[in-house]
Amino acid sequence: MKIDIVPIFDDNYSYLLQSSCGVNSVIDAGQAEPIIKILNDRNIGLDFIISTHHHWDHVNGNMKLKNMYDAQIIAPYKESLYIDGVDIAIKDGDLFDLGGDIMQAIETSGHTLGSTCFYFKDSHALFTGDTVFSMGCGRIFEGTAHDMFTSFQKIMALPDETLIYPAHEYTRGNAGFCLSQDRDNEDLKLRIKEVKELRSNGKPTVPVSLTVEKKTNIFMKAKTAEDFATLRIKKDSF
Ligand code: ZN
Ligand code: FE
Repeated sequence: MKIDIVPIFDDNYSYLLQSSCGVNSVIDAGQAEPIIKILNDRNIGLDFIISTHHHWDHVNGNMKLKNMYDAQIIAPYKESLYIDGVDIAIKDGDLFDLGGDIMQAIETSGHTLGSTCFYFKDSHALFTGDTVFSMGCGRIFEGTAHDMFTSFQKIMALPDETLIYPAHEYTRGNAGFCLSQDRDNEDLKLRIKEVKELRSNGKPTVPVSLTVEKKTNIFMKAKTAEDFATLRIKKDSF
C-alpha cells in the first residue's frame, strides 16, 4: 500500500492510499480540492472515502468527491447520522478489504463518541484522526477522559513498529507541553530537535512510530485514567 500525505487547510492532513491492484482511498477528506489535484496528477480515480469522525475538517470534502468519482463513504456507524452520504457504516473490530489491503476499525471514543482509528496490520499503519497526535491527544468533546484513556490503551497494545498517521500537524505545540511535564526525558529532547528541523524545512513530523510515541508522548505515560484526566486538564490550559 502506498500512502501519501495530503496537507489540507492550515494544519490538517488527509491521506491518500493506493493499493497495489489500483483501489484508491482517502482518509479524512476535509477538503476536496487538494485531493482532486493529487488524483489528477496521478491520473487515477477514487474508490473509498474514509472518515475517522464527524467533525467538518474531516468530512467537508466527502460529498464532492463521492459525486465526482462515484466513491463510497466509509464512516463509524455511531456517527453515520452526522456524516452525509455514508455507504458503509463500520463498527469496532470490522475488517474491510481495500483492494487487498485489509483495514481494521478500532473504535477509540473520547474526542467524539464514535471516533475510529483505522489499522492496516500488514503495512503497520494506523490512522488516528483526532485521537492520537504526535506527542499529544485529541480534545475530549463528547466522551470522557476515561474513554480517551481506554482508547489510548487499545492503541498502545498494537505492535511497537506501528506507524501513527494523525489528522493534524500539532506536533510542535504538543512537544512544549510534554517537555513541561517531563523535563529530564532525553528521548523527548531528541524528538523535539528532529521536529524542529522537519518543520523548519516545511516537512511533516508524521508518521511517527508507536515506539517513539511511547517514549515521548506524556499521555502514553499515564498509568491510570485519573492521571490521564489530570494531564488533559493541564493541557487544556497550557
Ligand atoms: Zn475533530
Ligand atoms: Fe480535526
